[in-house]
Amino acid sequence: MRFRGGYDILLQGRPEGLVRPMPEPATLYLPLRSPRFTFTEICVRHGQDVKAGDPLARDRRNHGVPLLAPRSGRVNLESAENHTVLEQAVKLQQPSDPARKQMSHIERESGAAVMRQRQLLALGAWQFFYDAHTGALPDPTGSPQAIIVCTLGLEPFVTRGDVQLRSRLLNFTRGLEHLQSLLEYQPIFLAIPDIRSDFADIIRNRIRGYASVKILAVPLTYPYDNFRILARRLGLKRSNGPVWALRTEGILAVDRALTLTKPCLVRIVSIGGAGVVPATHIKVMPGYPLKMIKEKYVFEPVARIINGGILTGETLGEQTLGLDAECRGLTVLPEQEGREFLGFTRPGWGRSAYAPCFLSSLRQRFRERFSTGMRGEGRPCISCNYCEDVCPAGIAPHLIHKYLYRGLIDGAERARVDLCVECGLCSFVCPSKIDLRRQFFEVKQLIHDEKQAICEEKARLEAVREAGK
Ligand code: SF4
Ligand code: SF4
Repeated sequence: MRFRGGYDILLQGRPEGLVRPMPEPATLYLPLRSPRFTFTEICVRHGQDVKAGDPLARDRRNHGVPLLAPRSGRVNLESAENHTVLEQAVKLQQPSDPARKQMSHIERESGAAVMRQRQLLALGAWQFFYDAHTGALPDPTGSPQAIIVCTLGLEPFVTRGDVQLRSRLLNFTRGLEHLQSLLEYQPIFLAIPDIRSDFADIIRNRIRGYASVKILAVPLTYPYDNFRILARRLGLKRSNGPVWALRTEGILAVDRALTLTKPCLVRIVSIGGAGVVPATHIKVMPGYPLKMIKEKYVFEPVARIINGGILTGETLGEQTLGLDAECRGLTVLPEQEGREFLGFTRPGWGRSAYAPCFLSSLRQRFRERFSTGMRGEGRPCISCNYCEDVCPAGIAPHLIHKYLYRGLIDGAERARVDLCVECGLCSFVCPSKIDLRRQFFEVKQLIHDEKQAICEEKARLEAVREAGK
């Protein structure tokens, strides 16, 4: 399979392949927002006792996806804004099958596959599913043209698939079997690294017997693990129906939900970046207090904590107290206070860039210590074309930027800003430090909202015309 663009990002602070346990916290702080979900419908009362696996809240705009209680405890809805707090949290036996009784009618009405999809939703495993083209949560009553399963995590520093898989290969293959049972004849594409290693060979051998699973060897270059890029490379067009996509943790959650009928309440989360010692993986649950993680791993007195990878994650504000339900990793960077005037002109033996502008270009490639510093102030585009070189979507980010700079949104549309997969590579390599990714994200949102408004207006006029007949 041929890919274009991409770049191998080498930075200090890559999480090691170990999973370290964390102490059980007495209080969990579950944010009511995560990148895709907003849990507006609270299902519990202040002071109510809940069991592990009970729904605390739901996101009605996303098929009612639940925010599950990761532990038994007492609900406090008043102590932290935008969080559901679980006090006196304890690890108790989970109910064996909270969902099945309520769903027997669904099996009669809609068939076994839809019932299993509903079960995945009720047990918190459906939230690991993505629509490969849009990134949204797919419809749990729908059916895809194909499923992409990706075992790679290539953005620094999100959870590595090999770390999650190493001791749970059996669960993973069983999860794939369950996934097959949701389909009639559609293929499952399993993306694994295109390297020869004992571990990759074990996966290949295990998968050989699965007729509908096709192996996809993917180079270890960012962002070839991106679902939209994979769907495009596979020729899976959006017009032919949805493509579902999952990562390793999703397959493990499917196995747990459909083999044991138990909710998936813990996560393996990476913690990496130049502000962490040691950079590693930790076993935690949603709502785990960030304070406890910081005390154990963050040594920098002033550090920026990013929820997710270094290119696509979002900075966590002081008001966020716990890990959200979708957290795949925390990236910690030393915060550079004060401006580094004309930082890009300093020779720099230990700093690296896509452009060969530092002395370090005379060294072999190395892992750089990365901070939040901008290396000098933002500058205008110098038309170096580096952003176009690395763009995996085959568009010209500098051209779109120039259209947007002049307020020409039509031009950005014609230059196919819609193909941008928001990987952030263009912003990363740009020597002028232009935040192209954010610009493109915002303009895509604007175009989407405008199109939506036009459709709604058309529908309204149509309704008025119909009413007047
Ligand atoms: S334009 Fe979009 S897809 Fe291309 S490098 Fe930038 S963020 Fe990635
Ligand atoms: S990398 Fe930055 S400076 Fe270079 S062409 Fe792209 S936007 Fe312009």
